[in-house]
Amino acid sequence: MSITYTVNRSRKRRKTISLQVSGNSGLIVSAPYFTPVAEIDRFVREKQNWISKTIQKHTEDSIKNKAKKYNTGEHFFYLGQSYPLEVFFEPFENAGVVFWNNSFHLNAQENKDLRKHYFVSWYKKKAREYIHQHVYFFSRELNLQPGNLKITSAERRWGSCSADNNLSFSFRLIMAPPDIIDYVIVHELTHIKEKSHSPKFWKQVEAAMPEYKAHRRWLRDNNHKFIL
Ligand SMILES: [Zn+2]
Repeated sequence: MSITYTVNRSRKRRKTISLQVSGNSGLIVSAPYFTPVAEIDRFVREKQNWISKTIQKHTEDSIKNKAKKYNTGEHFFYLGQSYPLEVFFEPFENAGVVFWNNSFHLNAQENKDLRKHYFVSWYKKKAREYIHQHVYFFSRELNLQPGNLKITSAERRWGSCSADNNLSFSFRLIMAPPDIIDYVIVHELTHIKEKSHSPKFWKQVEAAMPEYKAHRRWLRDNNHKFIL
């Protein structure tokens, strides 16, 4: 592993080398003015575990800070497109999310958890309808019979296939573009025949979906966008 860092050489009476991870500047090493480069390098290499743990924690924290607040003007994904949200509170009308005229409308009081709950239920309902239809289509197309179908709240996994061929999909998938959803469906259906990610498995995925590599890459690069 190669680590990039910035060195701050202090003319003051600093006696030891120290490390700091900052959101904007990455890793900063502070060292006494005349410390040889080799010594700084060795120090950084010795602290490699601490550095990677701290950087990972910083990344996770910055994703959490970007978490939704469920206020008017925020944007939410649905089938790969992002739509603005309008929040209002009409206590005598049905609470929850409605999607019309290319925007989300949320009737809810000022309560982040409650608002999130309404969004999750809306996404789950849409995911259930959409994914059921598409699993049905591809299971006939590929001649692969799944067991039960479940919509989960999984945050890191888009889909899975159990030993007895029950398929699970995260409701978050409904935020992704249609061809990405179909790729995940084809992927999990293929596990009915091939449980591991063997070359044989990928060959079958490719036969059903020649552009699957671009979809995989897309999921890896865009995963962070679909955090609620
Ligand atoms: Zn898989």
